[in-house]
Parts: sequence; structure tokens; C-alpha cells
Amino acid sequence: SLHELDQSVPAVQVCVRLRPLLPWERSEGYGPSAMEINQGDGKDGSISLKEDGRSRHFRFNAVISPECTQQEAWDLSRIEAVVNKVAMGFHATVFAYGQTGTGKTHTMEGYSYEHHNGSAAPSVSAARPRVKAKSTPPEQLGVVPRAVMALFDRVEAIRARDSLGAQACVVRVSFLQIYNEKIFDLLNPSLSVSQREAGGRGEDFSGLRMRWDALKRHFFVENLFQNECNSAEEALQYYQAGIANKHVASTAMNVASSRSHTLMVLTLLKREGTAGPDGSTEPSREVVSQLSLVDLAGSERTLATVNTSSKSSTRFQETVNVNQSLFVLRRVITALSKRDKGTETSGQVGHVPYRESKLTSLLQNSLGGSSYLIMFACLAASDKHDDENLSTLQYASQAASI
Ligand code: ADP
Ligand code: MG
Repeated sequence: SLHELDQSVPAVQVCVRLRPLLPWERSEGYGPSAMEINQGDGKDGSISLKEDGRSRHFRFNAVISPECTQQEAWDLSRIEAVVNKVAMGFHATVFAYGQTGTGKTHTMEGYSYEHHNGSAAPSVSAARPRVKAKSTPPEQLGVVPRAVMALFDRVEAIRARDSLGAQACVVRVSFLQIYNEKIFDLLNPSLSVSQREAGGRGEDFSGLRMRWDALKRHFFVENLFQNECNSAEEALQYYQAGIANKHVASTAMNVASSRSHTLMVLTLLKREGTAGPDGSTEPSREVVSQLSLVDLAGSERTLATVNTSSKSSTRFQETVNVNQSLFVLRRVITALSKRDKGTETSGQVGHVPYRESKLTSLLQNSLGGSSYLIMFACLAASDKHDDENLSTLQYASQAASI
């Protein structure tokens, strides 16, 4: 039963995942990283890195070494327990953080895509994307498809034993992209195709509007597609279409997807039944929980390479926006982990500037109350990456105040 599956799950977990040297890196003469990795017994691990002769030591909930498979990464990060919490009515968020090229998308998606370089204007739809998924072997699937399947397993179990049957649980899927503090619907890109094309020509484009719901006290995205899904297969079809649209959109907007955040949200509505006058069960109270799965923009600090005379340039603004949202995110995680450890007065999370970025505004609801968080800090195990690795390790360990 659900109760048996419920282990003691920490509210905030930081897992470091290292990727191996890639074949081209080997042939370019990249060497192994100077990091010392201790995967531990799976429950906790540590990484040491020398900086200016001084050895820096970091501890994490899990360290996932370069040779680990997707299944091992899933097991070591114990996401399944968090998915079970979502099925019980709690919110949860999973992030992949790290420099571009360190394995965030590999960790979250795991899908492979073929690009279609047609000359026609992009015509994208959730039903018929122009980029085709190569059939991905199940063992290569990342966290998102595994979480979708695990959540639907729980949903099926609830439906099977609840007198409301299929009515007991409804799952909705949404999938959006935040680029330059503008929101695009990856499941309904036709709405913003002309805007994306205008963006590609260097014109201004606005994206979807984010609004405050005073009654439910959370931000929401106006006109965002919320697709009700009956099975994991259906949810994953939307997911694949959204990923394909992300690739098409990057081309249309002429931007690297490394500068945008993608956010997939699974919303679970659980209805509780009350016995009606004729003895039948009728839905009454509704519990809403959300699982948010985020592939963050690359964390590299590109400001140094931006010409200061072009402070109004799109590139400059992109960098400012990415840095700002990652900074706010770290403060949010820090506040949560302090509360988790009881180092903050009970219930007090301190001031968290959620509203200073679109991403944290949208996640405020999922991150604020009793919720679970897993962060994958992604690193490349190569000497060429060690400067950035140190900054990722610092971000991750500060975030969780370990
Ligand atoms: P990011 O999303 O952080 O920019 P990617 O997920 O695109 O990085 O990964 C960069 C490259 O490294 C890709 O070619 C990907 O297939 C490869 N890669 C990432 N993680 C692993 C891994 N654990 N094992 C093997 N290859 C990996
Ligand atoms: Mg990526």
C-alpha cells in the first residue's frame, strides 16, 4: 500500500551527477577531473576538489558517478519516494542545475531527437512536431518519463481501490519554456509561432502572461494548455511533442535552448468521496498536488564575455535574467532546507524573493509549504570543467546548507 512505500523522505535533497568524458573530449585531449568522488553507500556521498592548493570538501545526499546508468541515477536520488508523496497530496519539485553540456537534459529527458532541416516556415503543433524522436530504449529514459510512469502507477492503484474509480484521480500535464523572462507554451506553440519568428528577426515578442490568482493565492499562466491525461503513455506523448517543439522553437527564435528553463508540471487532483443518500459515492473534497520537473538554463557566467558597451543587447539581457532566476532559486532552496533542519524558527521561512523571477513565481506554490525538492547538480568529470564544477558544487552545497 501507499503507507508501506512511505519512507522517511528528506524535504530537500541535493544529488550530484557526474557525466563521463565524451568521445570528442577524449580526442581533444581533455583529461580526467581532479575531483575525488566518493559515492558512499548510496545514502550520502562526497566530493573533494583542490582549489589553489586548498582541498575543498562537499557532502551531498547522493553522488552519482559517471558510470551510473539512468536507472541507477533514479534509484540513488530516491525520486520514487517523492513521487509517492505527490500521490499522497504533497507538492514536489525536481531541478537539474549545471553548466551547459554537463548532462541536465540527459538526466531529465534522456530522449534523443533528430532535427528536420526543412526550408519551410516552422509549423509546429503538439500533435505533429517537425522533429522526430528516435525510438529511445527504455533504459535510457531520464527522470521525467520515469516520474510520469511512477506517478501513473500510483494513480492506477488509487483508482483501483477507491470507490470513485477513475473519478478519484485526474492528472493534468502542462509544459512551458521560460526564455528571457518570457513564457512560451510548449504544448500549444501555434499561439506564439508568429511571435517566435518575430523574435528570430530580432523584433520584440511577448510570450504568455503570468497572473496572480487572489483566491487560490498563486501565480498562473494565462491560456496555458492543461491537458488531462488518462495514462502514462498519453502524458509522455505530450511530453515528447513538447520537447520536439522546444527544438523547433529554439531555431525559430534563433536562441540556444541552454538559455531557457523548461518546466513540466503534472497536476494531480484527488477527490475524496462521500456516501450519497442512495448509498453511492459522490466526489466531495478535492486535493491538488503538483510535481514540477525543471531543466534549468545553463549556469555558466557569461557576463565576463559580454561587451559592456552592449548592455542593452539581447545576449546581455539573457545572461542577467538567467543569473537572476538561478540566484533567487538558490535563496528559495536555502530557506527551505533551513526550515527542514529546524535552524529557522518553526514555520518561518524568512523572506524569499519569489517574485523576482518568473520561474520562482510560478513555483512559489510548490516550493513554499510542505513540499519536497530534489536538485540534481550536474558536473562533467573533466579537468577542463573543474572551475565551473567548483562553482556548481558551491551553489549546490550553499543551497542545501550542508
Ligand atoms: P545539458 O543539458 O546540461 O546542456 P546534455 O544533457 O545535453 O547537457 O549533455 C551533454 C552531452 O553529454 C550530450 O551529448 C549527452 O548525451 C552527454 N551526456 C550527458 N550525461 C551523460 C551520461 N551520464 N552518460 C553519457 N553521456 C552523457
Ligand atoms: Mg540541455
